[in-house]
Amino acid sequence: MKVLVPVKRVLDYNLKVKVKSDQSGVDLSNLKMSMNPFCEIAVEEAVRLKEKGVVTEIVAVSIGPEQAQETIRTALAMGADRGILVKVDGDVEPLAVAKILKGIVEAEQPQLVVLGKQAIDDDSNQTGQMLAAILGWPQGTFAYKLDVGADKVTVTREVDGGLQTVDLQLPAIITTDLRLNEPRYASLPNIMKAKKKPIDVKAASDYGVDTTPRLKVLKVTEPPKRQGGVKVKTVAELVDKLKNEAGVL
Ligand code: AMP
Repeated sequence: MKVLVPVKRVLDYNLKVKVKSDQSGVDLSNLKMSMNPFCEIAVEEAVRLKEKGVVTEIVAVSIGPEQAQETIRTALAMGADRGILVKVDGDVEPLAVAKILKGIVEAEQPQLVVLGKQAIDDDSNQTGQMLAAILGWPQGTFAYKLDVGADKVTVTREVDGGLQTVDLQLPAIITTDLRLNEPRYASLPNIMKAKKKPIDVKAASDYGVDTTPRLKVLKVTEPPKRQGGVKVKTVAELVDKLKNEAGVL
């Protein structure tokens, strides 16, 4: 079974986001970029399926600038077999990503596409769902546990208030939630080996996709600064503040 894992290059999750002074977006200059954490979980799950003998080949795909090769190399060092970089400079919206992935799915014919549930930069949570819709494939989003059989996959999903289990006929789309697994760190020998694994470089036009944004960002602002805490002397004072200042009672 072949698995496709789309991996996005995003600002490292440990860094504090800074808004550009003209409020047109987030300042990414000279900052560390890494693989989106939910994509790491997707790669890890694919590698575990390969280790179990369920999966035979893992193809990591990234759509982004030249440097997104590094993100693909990380996936290769974790255990993916080969990569595809679709070079696009500037922002690519989920619909364009989904259309490009559809082209790759048609060329590669994977049985499973495992994406992150969301990219932590745009927080869209759309690509997996859009890809499932345009392919007409079943989708299991927010996966907490996967059980892959010969012609179906059982997905336990995180939903509000609990877990929901669904059976999907293969081929299918999965998006990963936080508790699906804990991604491994790539070992040094595997990082060295990954340098020799092949990465194909493509353009969005190879899949007939126009990546021109359809959305216009009007303004990006930082969240309001947190106010300092106060100590209250009595329960009555606490209740009063909750009622009259915080307005939560
Ligand atoms: P989003 O819908 O933007 O929140 O992203 C959800 C998931 O779609 C990510 O975790 C990736 O698996 C995939 N994805 C989104 N954008 C890209 C991209 N530019 N390159 C590769 N995968 C992507």
